[in-house]
Amino acid sequence: MNVLIVGRGGREHSIVMSLAESNKIENLFVAPGNGGMIEQATCISIDEMDIEALIEFAKKERIDLTIVGPEAPLNAGIADRFQAEGLKIFAPTKKAALLEGSKSYAKAFMEKYDIPTAVYETFTDVRSAEAYIKEKGAPIVIKADGLAAGKGVVVAQTIVEAVEAATDMLVAKTFSNAGSKIVIEEFLDGREFSLMAFVHENHVYPMIPARDYKRAFDNDGGPNTGGMGAYAPVPDITEEHIAFAVENVLQKAVDGLMEEGHPFTGILYGGLIVTEDGPKVIEFNTRFGDPETQVVLPLLENDLLQVFVDVLDGKNPKLEWESEASLGVVVASEGYPDCYDKGIAIPTLEKGHDTLIVHAGTTFEGDTLVSDGGRVLLVGAKKPTLQEAREAVYQVLEPQDKFFYRNDIGMD
Ligand code: ATP
Repeated sequence: MNVLIVGRGGREHSIVMSLAESNKIENLFVAPGNGGMIEQATCISIDEMDIEALIEFAKKERIDLTIVGPEAPLNAGIADRFQAEGLKIFAPTKKAALLEGSKSYAKAFMEKYDIPTAVYETFTDVRSAEAYIKEKGAPIVIKADGLAAGKGVVVAQTIVEAVEAATDMLVAKTFSNAGSKIVIEEFLDGREFSLMAFVHENHVYPMIPARDYKRAFDNDGGPNTGGMGAYAPVPDITEEHIAFAVENVLQKAVDGLMEEGHPFTGILYGGLIVTEDGPKVIEFNTRFGDPETQVVLPLLENDLLQVFVDVLDGKNPKLEWESEASLGVVVASEGYPDCYDKGIAIPTLEKGHDTLIVHAGTTFEGDTLVSDGGRVLLVGAKKPTLQEAREAVYQVLEPQDKFFYRNDIGMD
């Protein structure tokens, strides 16, 4: 089969690595891809938001299946356009992707379909927002409605901080239109985990749970990022938690979307937290998580291409998972998630036979591999235990000028 992956991050490199192992692949393309993929796939210089150029390419190269990594093209309607052209795509339509694209939509949807989540209200007016914050007290969580690359959420410890965040979003427009509406919700206390599933219409095939680390620095310090590391599976998440989340979160969500007339195809990601009252939803994503994908896919025993094909054909892909532990640590550019330089030579890491290096923000300048984004690499390992996987990863990593990584991934 000819397959096209849309995206350029670590998540997409991980998908490429898994698909490259499939003997059903004839040609594997990535648009636009990154510096680490050239051995396994052909990178083509089409931006992930240039949907019409992607369609033209898919037709010309007789692409049998397109898989989309990032959220932005989903929200721009890439799946709708591909389907309208008769092209097969494993991705949700614009309306189904709204579960990630609009937090106020997602909250109202969860309320309607009785999916457990934090109590909330939606605001466009700062005075009403302030009154609500004062009534509820702190800690409290302020969220920009639209997509803000993981930065549109403030977990405020005080009322002053919460009012400031609401004012920044609604009045100062720090997230432009993404923050012209905000969700203010109850602070939930507990341990978080992510549960992704392959979905087609009302069929849900869950993967193993993962845990990611959103804060930039050790001990959950510093600003929120796209994710600085992850591991899977998660020992403190029980079979009961997973069964509850599949039945009461993922299945209810896809059934609800069917009822709304927006059936879901693609990856549904539940960002969950185990509270005293059981697992609740923090957020939905409508695509593979990054960096969760980089630690989950290495444990999948099935041929990933066959999984996509089966799911789209309405067949159970019968997912099988290795019983090992998988852990990954992100190497990021100094300054990320704020300002950072690009074009810095990527350090050569001596990886062992049981570790892997997944590329994210890397590109070639001539023959030199240089940084091209905030998150640059992920070093991963798969071992019988989480501790062994962590040791293997940190053996490969060394402090580098101009780059940083967290030292405590998997230490909780
Ligand atoms: P992503 O980058 O995953 O898309 P996002 O911008 O959609 O992130 P959320 O996942 O909703 O944001 O929130 C980011 C983080 O903020 C969560 O992982 C969690 O740690 C914290 N958080 C969000 N909502 C709550 C809540 N109600 N109670 C406690 N913590 C929360």
